Amino acid sequence: MNVKLIGFTPNPERLPSMAAKLTHSKIKPEDLDKSSEKELQAILEHVINLGHTSVIEHTCFTFAISDVSRSLTHQLVRHRIASYAQQSQRYVDLKEPNYVTPPTIAKNRDMKKAYDETMKNIWNEYNKLLELGIPAEDSRFILPNATCTNIIVTMNARSLLNFFELRCCLHAQWEIRDLANKMLKELKKVAPTIFKKAGPSCKSKGFCSENKKDCPMYPK
Ligand SMILES: Cc1cc2nc3c(=O)[nH]c(=O)nc-3n(C[C@H](O)[C@H](O)[C@H](O)COP(=O)(O)OP(=O)(O)OC[C@H]3O[C@@H](n4cnc5c(N)ncnc54)[C@H](O)[C@@H]3O)c2cc1C
Repeated sequence: MNVKLIGFTPNPERLPSMAAKLTHSKIKPEDLDKSSEKELQAILEHVINLGHTSVIEHTCFTFAISDVSRSLTHQLVRHRIASYAQQSQRYVDLKEPNYVTPPTIAKNRDMKKAYDETMKNIWNEYNKLLELGIPAEDSRFILPNATCTNIIVTMNARSLLNFFELRCCLHAQWEIRDLANKMLKELKKVAPTIFKKAGPSCKSKGFCSENKKDCPMYPK
């Protein structure tokens, strides 16, 4: 899996702080930029702590994500407050086997062998269908959830906080959890105040929305 932050709103923390200041100020929005860094930083911390996170919708982040499974992207695109562009299985040549192997299978030599053989057979059949003139949009029906794909996603900061609550959680599936943790690591570098407490709800809110008491992270 490769995860790269390829773009974000300039002044990702200053901008939402200005928006927050606007709500309680007579200053015209075009003049808010003159506010000091210290003041804006304090305002941002205050609104984040209050949970008044609508202002951070003004800041967006774009990630390039490659070599993940279709199983992962199917879960990712359920997050509706986002924009996506995904590699097409209709227009892109997928003739070479390219798939994700779950660690539970990779660690067992016999299982891994059987898994790789199954994938090889699937791709052989896929290529046969293409050679018989079946269009790629139909041949792809036999490709597995494990098939590698590439996707670009843009989310605003508020939506990302929701994404991390759900997907950094130990109850989230391992591959999307891995993605969420990698995205969060990148975001902490460029927007440390917004994402200071980001993570599963046990970390961000101090309670477990899954209410699964067997979890090692379950809040005391
Ligand atoms: C551990 C786990 C297991 C899951 N298992 C399943 C499963 O078995 N089956 C399944 O189908 N899904 C499953 N999901 C997906 C889950 O139900 C959500 O679809 C997904 O996590 C997206 O979350 P979201 O709706 O909060 O995000 P977004 O779509 O980004 O929405 C963000 C927030 O905006 C608001 N919102 C967005 N759209 C609407 C709307 N139409 N009406 C009202 N409010 C809205 C909500 O407050 C929402 O939380 C699972 C998710 C997790 C984390």
